[in-house]
Amino acid sequence: MGRVYNFSAGPAVLPEEVLREAAEEMLDYKGTGMSVMEMSHRSKAFETIIEEAEQDLRDLMNIPDNYKVLFLQGGASQQFAMIPMNLMKNKVADYIITGQWAKKAYEEAKKFGKANAIASSADKTFSYIPDCSDLPISEDADYVYICENNTIYGTKYKTLPNTKGKILVADVSSCFLSEPVDVTKYGIIYGGVQKNVGPAGVVIVIIREDLITEDTLPGTPTMLQYKIHGDNKSLYNTPPAYGIYICGKVFKWLKKKGGLAAMKEYNEKKAAVLYNYLDQSKLFKGTVRKADRSLMNVPFVTGNEELDAKFVKEAKAAGFENLKGHRTVGGMRASIYNAMPIEGVEKLVEFMKKFEAENI
Ligand code: PMP
Repeated sequence: MGRVYNFSAGPAVLPEEVLREAAEEMLDYKGTGMSVMEMSHRSKAFETIIEEAEQDLRDLMNIPDNYKVLFLQGGASQQFAMIPMNLMKNKVADYIITGQWAKKAYEEAKKFGKANAIASSADKTFSYIPDCSDLPISEDADYVYICENNTIYGTKYKTLPNTKGKILVADVSSCFLSEPVDVTKYGIIYGGVQKNVGPAGVVIVIIREDLITEDTLPGTPTMLQYKIHGDNKSLYNTPPAYGIYICGKVFKWLKKKGGLAAMKEYNEKKAAVLYNYLDQSKLFKGTVRKADRSLMNVPFVTGNEELDAKFVKEAKAAGFENLKGHRTVGGMRASIYNAMPIEGVEKLVEFMKKFEAENI
């Protein structure tokens, strides 16, 4: 029926069951006679959708009561500004630079106060996570910022940084719901949903309540205040309603699959299929330090740009889509989010073996 194996970094593959269910409900959502796209965000039906979505997410991530869940817009990138505007009381924040997304967040924070780059892995093209056990955390830092999974480079923090008591803020866009997390270790966990959770247009912010205050930087627009969205349960204005509805379906799908512990097990098994092959291949090579490898984004190269391009082209013709690496780094990248079935990775490896035999 024409579905490909989609290895896109985002927007990315969604569970087929979710898409089918959404298709069935497209014209008449549960007897309302309309699509979720057409209904008021103040209607009873939508109220149930957003409340269930929040509750299911709380169940999945074991989110404590003193954290709010916000469904916002503006992508992960809008949070790069919203975080300092709401949290920079001392106008100081520490950033760990593990790739372009962390760097962009850091550059944005500089507009609002003193942002310090306290560690970086730029020296080796962001192919590892720096040692974060004893960093020069600023005494007056309002928070320490990380990008927990680096979509472009394929690295992931396996232990969180020692923030020396400072609030940890994490962008989890590309590892959202891929494994259990201890929410209490963070002040804010946030992510754009278009990788592991749903369609582009929704960003989920999980924020400890005491960080939600009226004391934002002067001039902070109403729409960029966490308090406004918190007080109004993400319904201050029209939310990205259809996106939230699909996220809600993905949450239910994850619960049915056994939750985040089961997802982690599955993701580890899935990633191992690809990493084990890469580790013994004579043609392809993973680009990330083994200890820091992401379960979600797997970059690899042949070492020859022409051969990389040939591989991407032939893979596409064989039904493996979006394997080209990020435009800034080249090579290949297979994003293998929650919804990518293990068969997709096994078939990709089979294809890579064949390509290796033909091109070595
Ligand atoms: N953070 C990470 C880790 C990402 O991978 C991306 C997008 N690929 C972003 C932030 C930016 O997200 P958005 O396009 O939703 O602003």
